[in-house]
Amino acid sequence: MTQEINLKIKDKIAASERILIVSHVRPDADAAGSLLGLGLALQQAGKTVQMVLQDGADNFDYLPGSDQILRQAEGSFDMIVVVDCSDSQRVGHALDGYGAPDLVVDHHKTNLNFGANNVVEPEQVATAAILYDRIPEWGLAFNSDVANCLLSGIVGDTIGFRTSNVDASVLRRAAALMEHGADLAHIYREELVLKSYTAVRYWGAGLNRLLYEDGLVWTYLSLVDREKIGYAGNDDADLVNVLSAVREAEIALIFIEQTHNQVKVSWRAQPDLDVSEIAFSFGGGGHAAAAGADIEGDLQEVMTRVIEKTRELLDNSRK
Ligand code: 5GP
Ligand code: MN
Repeated sequence: MTQEINLKIKDKIAASERILIVSHVRPDADAAGSLLGLGLALQQAGKTVQMVLQDGADNFDYLPGSDQILRQAEGSFDMIVVVDCSDSQRVGHALDGYGAPDLVVDHHKTNLNFGANNVVEPEQVATAAILYDRIPEWGLAFNSDVANCLLSGIVGDTIGFRTSNVDASVLRRAAALMEHGADLAHIYREELVLKSYTAVRYWGAGLNRLLYEDGLVWTYLSLVDREKIGYAGNDDADLVNVLSAVREAEIALIFIEQTHNQVKVSWRAQPDLDVSEIAFSFGGGGHAAAAGADIEGDLQEVMTRVIEKTRELLDNSRK
């Protein structure tokens, strides 16, 4: 079956001249790294490639090719690829006016298989790891730029090889990408260590209000925080990873107020818990240990609803 799909995809790529690749809103390193890694490999094979992220790639200027990323697709394409998205809403408006994707490459267990071909491998730590496996099988090749982008995706989703799904095969893939020219120390520093002064002050706003109750830790970031501090993004600047450092917390949550009466929620759980289903029940998705959703409603109201449901999940897991 895998071999059959691989051959179909290889043929589709070979027959396509213009290829569009998109990934999700509020892109993380796996979204940007997978998009660029595949995109640059396709360009190396002589394809005309457009790479689109609705929210741009401002945090990823250290990745080769990031200056090519557009916020909206333009023109017509022979093939449309979506990477690291479990449903079609995840791309935001990036595919408005275009049909269903020809290919979806993803590792979320909540994936809805919304493409004509779906390469969905929930056991993989990152979409970039799937692409590492498939690039040669699809008739494409690595170079140092492709390798840097894919390793960046793996480092991002494993938070620097720290998640419990990292095994020896992940490290072997990372080592192979380094042999293709990826610079691990540079990726690590740019992606996980360095934050802007503004981002760290933005963390401060959230950390100031941090709450803990019986295994749950949470806080919020408001539109007013962003305006006061001058933080330009609409994300949490990875504050949720700081919250996950609280030893007593079995689940960490962050609520990020958005415009248009929306709240972005992120869940992070200890290895024996699964927060993907709860995110899915709120219209989002993700993995057992890390999931998210965009929920309609006012900040306080969404916090109340989500904390109540998360508390239920935690209580049930203790029975
Ligand atoms: P984060 O909380 O860092 O945004 O995301 C954690 C995980 O959940 C990531 O794998 C991300 O792709 C997924 N995720 C986050 N938000 C959403 C969402 O609104 N919809 C879906 N389907 N997945 C999400
Ligand atoms: Mn991912």
